[in-house]
Amino acid sequence: MTAHDCCADPKQKLLSVAAGRQRIMDAVPVLTATEQLHLKSAPGRVLATPVVAPVDVPPFDNSAMDGYAVRSADCNAPGTTQLAVTGASFAGAPFDGAVAEGQCVRIMTGAVMPDGADAVLMQEHVERDGDNISFSKTGISAGMNVRYAGEDTRRGDTVLDAGTRLSAAGIGLLASVGVSEVSVTRRLRVAFFSTGDELTGVGATLAPGQIYDSNRYALHGMLSNPAIECYDLGVIPDQREAVRDAFRQAADMADLILTSGGVSVGEADYVTETLGELGEINFWRMAMKPGKPLAFGKLDKAVFFGLPGNPVSAMVTFYQFVLPAIRKICGETPREPLLIQVRCAEDLKKAPGRMEFQRGILHTNSEGEMVVSTTGLQGSHVMHSMSRANCFIHLPAECAGVAAGEQVDVQPFQDLY
Ligand code: AMP
Ligand code: MG
Repeated sequence: MTAHDCCADPKQKLLSVAAGRQRIMDAVPVLTATEQLHLKSAPGRVLATPVVAPVDVPPFDNSAMDGYAVRSADCNAPGTTQLAVTGASFAGAPFDGAVAEGQCVRIMTGAVMPDGADAVLMQEHVERDGDNISFSKTGISAGMNVRYAGEDTRRGDTVLDAGTRLSAAGIGLLASVGVSEVSVTRRLRVAFFSTGDELTGVGATLAPGQIYDSNRYALHGMLSNPAIECYDLGVIPDQREAVRDAFRQAADMADLILTSGGVSVGEADYVTETLGELGEINFWRMAMKPGKPLAFGKLDKAVFFGLPGNPVSAMVTFYQFVLPAIRKICGETPREPLLIQVRCAEDLKKAPGRMEFQRGILHTNSEGEMVVSTTGLQGSHVMHSMSRANCFIHLPAECAGVAAGEQVDVQPFQDLY
């Protein structure tokens, strides 16, 4: 990477979102260090090695119903069938014996199938009278209401691949095969700070010309992730030396450095310049809205993103570029963003030229159809448009506006974790 290798000149053409994301994904490394964690500490972490099942799940043939374990061959005579109940099999307390011809065993859901029995008759289909049952149901075949050993998972199967981020279901799956510890990628260290002389911390009173530093808090929110350890370096004033010091401090502690503000080509914008001096830098003018300027590069061993200062731009840029990079660095198997096509409930204004990530609200209309509405004002400073939204509406660069009823691509915020 060379200083200002692309698009620094405002007259140069903009870089497309897809091309920018590709360059970023090609450039970022994957963390190789791992740690061993108990399952309880592992939700949200990324598996570093595949997990192979040491046992079958279920470990034994068992009943899917409360009822009676029977021999199907005894059951399908015309008229009423009578069987003698010779015992019971409870979950955790199997029947100690075998089912012979003309016999059955009371059985509960999850209890071991007794030897000799091959089907379970639901209790709702049976009349019980003392130690006998009678029923007229026919069509009882071997395997009915039986869950076979290994039906869910076979011993030796890979249950989860390396690169899987552990969801609650993944954790449950690992527990179901009795695995208590997993090897995961170590946590990613992320240092971040805001730049700008106008910024005041929350809780303080605003002096004239000052605004609250919202980006650092939004970043903190977006970085609240079990796979990340984050270091908040505060607000750095628009001074060359202060920005330089913050860069050095961040590079000492982090694998990934994020800043907001100071990447435009304004007079007090030192982020891009400083990165060019101390590290390797790309400065791109992205063909997107919001969020045109983006600095990306390296500072010592750390990956660096200089996000734009406008609060919505900073968030959109984070979600579209930084988050996929974080996933890759943490060892997660890459995937495309989850996009769904829905109809737009109203007109959307857009000029051709840049790709837009408008903020939308996915909801079900009165006809029961899922549609998307706009959050209203779409300015890059309007945080309301982010906080009310539950999705991004992806409008391609060439799109010249959307009429109500047209289909659009929507990325639910549930995809952004
Ligand atoms: P900049 O990218 O530094 O030129 O900033 C662009 C706009 O975003 C300006 O209106 C800044 O005041 C605003 N801005 C920059 N940083 C922050 C921040 N941390 N929180 C809220 N607004 C910010
Ligand atoms: Mg600034």
